[in-house]
Amino acid sequence: MTTVLDTVVIGGGAMGSAAAWALSRRGREVTLVEQFGPAHKIGASHGATRNLNPGYHQPEYVAMLAEGLALWEELEQESGEQLLARTGIVNHGVNPHFAEVAAALTSAGIRAEFLDPAEAGERWRGIRFDQQVLHMPDGGQLNPEAALPAFQRLAAARGAGIRHHTKVVGFEMHDDGVRLTLESAAGTEVVTAAQAVVTAGGWTEKLLGRARGKDAGEIRIPQLTVTQEQPAHFRITDTGAVWPGFNHYPGPDYQGWYSPVYGMQTPGEGVKAGWHGVGPVVDPDHRDFLPEPAQLAALQDYARQWLPGVDADSFEAISCTYTTTPDEDFILDRVGPVVIGAGFSGHGFKFTPVIGRILADLATGTRPAPEIFRASR
Ligand SMILES: Cc1cc2nc3c(=O)[nH]c(=O)nc-3n(C[C@H](O)[C@H](O)[C@H](O)COP(=O)(O)OP(=O)(O)OC[C@H]3O[C@@H](n4cnc5c(N)ncnc54)[C@H](O)[C@@H]3O)c2cc1C
Repeated sequence: MTTVLDTVVIGGGAMGSAAAWALSRRGREVTLVEQFGPAHKIGASHGATRNLNPGYHQPEYVAMLAEGLALWEELEQESGEQLLARTGIVNHGVNPHFAEVAAALTSAGIRAEFLDPAEAGERWRGIRFDQQVLHMPDGGQLNPEAALPAFQRLAAARGAGIRHHTKVVGFEMHDDGVRLTLESAAGTEVVTAAQAVVTAGGWTEKLLGRARGKDAGEIRIPQLTVTQEQPAHFRITDTGAVWPGFNHYPGPDYQGWYSPVYGMQTPGEGVKAGWHGVGPVVDPDHRDFLPEPAQLAALQDYARQWLPGVDADSFEAISCTYTTTPDEDFILDRVGPVVIGAGFSGHGFKFTPVIGRILADLATGTRPAPEIFRASR
């Protein structure tokens, strides 16, 4: 027996949850399917903190930041949850774009100011500064553990079906819709739907690779690289210190860095710090969830030198996936009955409600996504 649905959202991470929320607000009949359970830690959207770092200068991202700040507030009001802790963000170190970022944000109505390292060190004594500091007070930390259930709960309240422990194992694309095979504890089920929204994170290529349609050809997207990233929560020793979110860009004479470092305080867990996008390339179904020792040791060295407010030898490692395109821009596009949201790397979460809006626009034919996100680029 075949189940007939309207729109199926594949993947209940940040982007799928936001797409279900945005589509349900437009009265679409939506069913979200997720292979794992609620709050699973196997993809890219788990944990209690993500930085809303406004440090962008590209016009498409700055526009999405401004819209995102408004949509996060809307979601907070709709859900009654606090989702954004407005701690501010400080980006420091050597970065040629700081002036452009400050100008772009200011013209978009998002606050940005330069501070000298001494003043920043007084305000945030848990962090060591030695170069220019760009302070953005409208940034802060988002909480995925509250946001994802909020998106799903609000979508369900508008009639959306939310199905965890349900995996898409078959995917056929046709001109008039899709045919999916679902596997769950209840057995195998065949579903036909007018549209599918694919927000499958690290599994996107596997899923789209299956999307062979007899009469619809195949879906071509930029290559996606899945890496296993390993930040860590360091124990706070300076309990009186105030912590903004931070991003630290290495200067030419900095030794032993893998990449810029990002970080933030996670209440009750310590200060998270991590390298960006340099983890081992993995198959999301065959991961060891173990930190790469050399990178971990270098991260401890970083904490020893640059985070005087924490104990570099007392930490909890985290494992999480980035799915990244060659140009680090997202994929937001539609091919026939299939809408794709992928490649959010380590910088997608702050834009989640906007991504939901763009995916809903693509599904309803309201408007295309910005050119830089096109699959055919
Ligand atoms: C360590 C780390 C730190 C980060 N820090 C920041 C930050 O500070 N600021 C920021 O803006 N962003 C940050 N990000 C990025 C952000 O978290 C991600 O871009 C975002 O969570 C991606 O969401 P997603 O929905 O695309 O992926 P996922 O959360 O991985 O969701 C994809 C879902 O699809 C499901 N799925 C896959 N295949 C199937 C199938 N066949 N059937 C059913 N379900 C399926 C998976 O189980 C998964 O739940 C960070 C990411 C990591 C890993």
